Amino acid sequence: MNAAPGSTDVVVVGGGIGGLATAYALASSGHSVAVLERAPEFTEVGAGLQMAPNATRILKEWGLLDEVVRAGVTPRRMVYRDALDGSELTHLDLDDGFVRRYGAPYVVMHRSDLLSILARACERAGVRMVPDCEVTDVVTDGDAAIVRSARGEFRGGLAVGADGLRSTLRGKLSDDEPICSGYVAYRGAFPVEELGSRLDKAALDEVVAYIGPGRHLVQYALRGGEMFNTVAVFKSPAYERGERDWGGPDELDAAFAGSCDEVRQGIGSLWRDRRWPMYDRLPIPGWTDGRLVLTGDAAHPMLQYLAQGACQAIEDAHVLASGLGGGETDWTGAVERFEAERTARTARVQNTARVWGDIWHVDEGAGRMMRNELFRLRDPRDYKYVDWLYAKRDEPRV
Ligand SMILES: Cc1cc2nc3c(=O)[nH]c(=O)nc-3n(C[C@H](O)[C@H](O)[C@H](O)COP(=O)(O)OP(=O)(O)OC[C@H]3O[C@@H](n4cnc5c(N)ncnc54)[C@H](O)[C@@H]3O)c2cc1C
Repeated sequence: MNAAPGSTDVVVVGGGIGGLATAYALASSGHSVAVLERAPEFTEVGAGLQMAPNATRILKEWGLLDEVVRAGVTPRRMVYRDALDGSELTHLDLDDGFVRRYGAPYVVMHRSDLLSILARACERAGVRMVPDCEVTDVVTDGDAAIVRSARGEFRGGLAVGADGLRSTLRGKLSDDEPICSGYVAYRGAFPVEELGSRLDKAALDEVVAYIGPGRHLVQYALRGGEMFNTVAVFKSPAYERGERDWGGPDELDAAFAGSCDEVRQGIGSLWRDRRWPMYDRLPIPGWTDGRLVLTGDAAHPMLQYLAQGACQAIEDAHVLASGLGGGETDWTGAVERFEAERTARTARVQNTARVWGDIWHVDEGAGRMMRNELFRLRDPRDYKYVDWLYAKRDEPRV
């Protein structure tokens, strides 16, 4: 690994899923790329990740899908259940018809497995991987982006800010701050044999979302069914009261106390020493400043209810690299085309994620009754609600 400052066509700031996907896509289309990551290693904390076909189709085009499928699980169905009584509300078949319709499967996997696959792909493509390298600023100097870091200055024709929700580089374009939703997530991923009777065997080949008032719980298997992943999300009363320490394990237990047996059982399959308060930001009109462009959560962080943050970061990588194919170096033209193609779509995903969360978490009573009725009326093979998100645009559906 060459960690000395230097010059490449593109300097990517941030080595998360978005940064590595961007680095790989650009290196594969003939550009020299460096990735600067502030952590000492290229690794992801956290548990499972759902990858919808809008992202897996791109991984397929990049030649990485077989490895991704081998590392993960391709679930048979995505099932929505009521968190209070456990009854099925609707489901989405993820079978061969789904794969034909969208050109790629729905995959669930450990996020560290995806990051390793992307990191290996970057290394094969000749990307310079620079860990332990916190970036403090990017400035434009004539035809170059100068990226200032703890290790010195890196120069590129283009700097890509893939530095996540609390992006330093977004500060060059906008003075907005992340918006706290007052919801907090707990996660857990355990080997199946450790879960014993806490394992819902029915959920081993499904993605199951239990949705209820101010809370939800999602479960699915990972690593070919060797591990089981649980995510529980709830609205914190302490946050509502304006308390500084909010979302603790006592609130977790209280939030899920009145839920069905399966959900209460699932709460036992979470790590309790770590939690993820949930933030997003409002869409902004543009992500470029001179020779800097933002991607992924740095550009369009969203609540995770559509399971699309990483998928959208992969779409960003694909669109940016497609606009710079064949070693072309019209960086400013490329980022303008990128922005024109991506801002409206990602704003729609950000906005829809908020609304989707509100529908999941609607209060008990009339709201819940109407939501459940409408979900139950839906034909499981009716994909029109997800076509806009999963389908390749401008292509008729089969
Ligand atoms: C509970 C939960 C569940 C989710 N589930 C899904 C899901 O199922 N499917 C899905 O698609 N998405 C999901 N998401 C969203 C997804 O995790 C994110 O959208 C995605 O990881 C964003 O990737 P990124 O590379 O843009 O940012 P990040 O993953 O945040 O990576 C940013 C990287 O930049 C580095 N960095 C930051 N600042 C600097 C700096 N100054 N200098 C150098 N490096 C820096 C960081 O260390 C980090 O490695 C979920 C999110 C949450 C919270």
